[in-house]
Amino acid sequence: MSIPIYLDYNATAPLRPEALEIMKKVWQQPANPSSVHGFGRKARSYLETAREQVARLVSAPPASVIFTSGATESNNAVLSAFKNDTVWVSAIEHSSVLAMAPEAERIPVTPSGIIDMDAFETMLENGPAPDLISVMLVNNETGVIQPVEAIARMAKKRYPQVHVHTDAAQAAGRIPVNFQALQVDYMSLSAHKLGGPQGVGALIKAPGAHDVKFLHGGGQERNQRAGTVNTAGIAGFGIAAEIARDNMDEFKRLETLRNRLEASLKEEVPEVKIYGQDAPRVSNTIAICVPGLTANTQIIALDMEGVAVSGGSACSSGTTKKSHVAEAMGVPKEEIAGAYRISMGPHITDKDIDAFLSIWSKIVSRMKKQN
Ligand code: PMP
Repeated sequence: MSIPIYLDYNATAPLRPEALEIMKKVWQQPANPSSVHGFGRKARSYLETAREQVARLVSAPPASVIFTSGATESNNAVLSAFKNDTVWVSAIEHSSVLAMAPEAERIPVTPSGIIDMDAFETMLENGPAPDLISVMLVNNETGVIQPVEAIARMAKKRYPQVHVHTDAAQAAGRIPVNFQALQVDYMSLSAHKLGGPQGVGALIKAPGAHDVKFLHGGGQERNQRAGTVNTAGIAGFGIAAEIARDNMDEFKRLETLRNRLEASLKEEVPEVKIYGQDAPRVSNTIAICVPGLTANTQIIALDMEGVAVSGGSACSSGTTKKSHVAEAMGVPKEEIAGAYRISMGPHITDKDIDAFLSIWSKIVSRMKKQN
């Protein structure tokens, strides 16, 4: 048994040792890829190798990769470029999308947490024509995979001028992602969700899509994102992307673990709710609630036993802000305060899951008695 047990991969994944190694190497040299001298050329080669690695992860042309400081910046960049336009966003987007589009039309989700395609079709029929549609590929709280390809296809059939953006921060490296097949114009990625460093990400932009330049100044990233690039971090992102792509099978193994974990949770506590279970999901995420118990008390009790899980999105955990995702799914109010997330990654073993189960069962049964 390996305590502590880290079950919060959707907040951030542990840095892959290979990423740390290359970052240390790059940091030991001055590395500005814009410089023409030898140091600069070496830095440029790290940058361009990483661009190819990240492009391969999502089957995109390398020239479409713009490195950013993370998925937040990528999301902000796209949404801010359309701030005076008609924008539709799903009701379950990450706050870095929603905060940029307070007036946007919300595409609803079903109680399973997947885009309500009937409602979406009605929106398409009724118009007015959207300029931008933003729907995430995998939801960070439930792990539900959204039908982005169908959304892009239907939207473009009806409104050929529309641009489609997908936030793939929780999808890349966990399920096969194909930028071109999805028919989207923009895709946001985050390095730290797949074992790269924090503070690094990418915006993938289709050739011909509108310019979404967010930071202005120097001519870096082919004039699309100003500021000296984080060469070391980007090199770490590149390696992490390559390893994630080569080890996608890990997430197949997690499916077996997840199914066993979910069955055991229900066996131990039959009233436990598991959200999104009947929708397609990434294999690493379980969103649960024990009716009558609050999430925060369980998260704290689990933490005291060496188990790390999160309530809702990590960005809003630590606060008592209720989950807009659960709300959009129509989860009853009294359950929303009890919903939290277990998210696994490649390091998680059968033994970890057994240890988690025994700690969780003990805590839940004690809390139920105290209630
Ligand atoms: N989108 C989603 C779906 C996320 O889960 C996160 C991370 N919580 C982000 C965007 C923000 O990513 P970053 O931390 O790289 O800014």
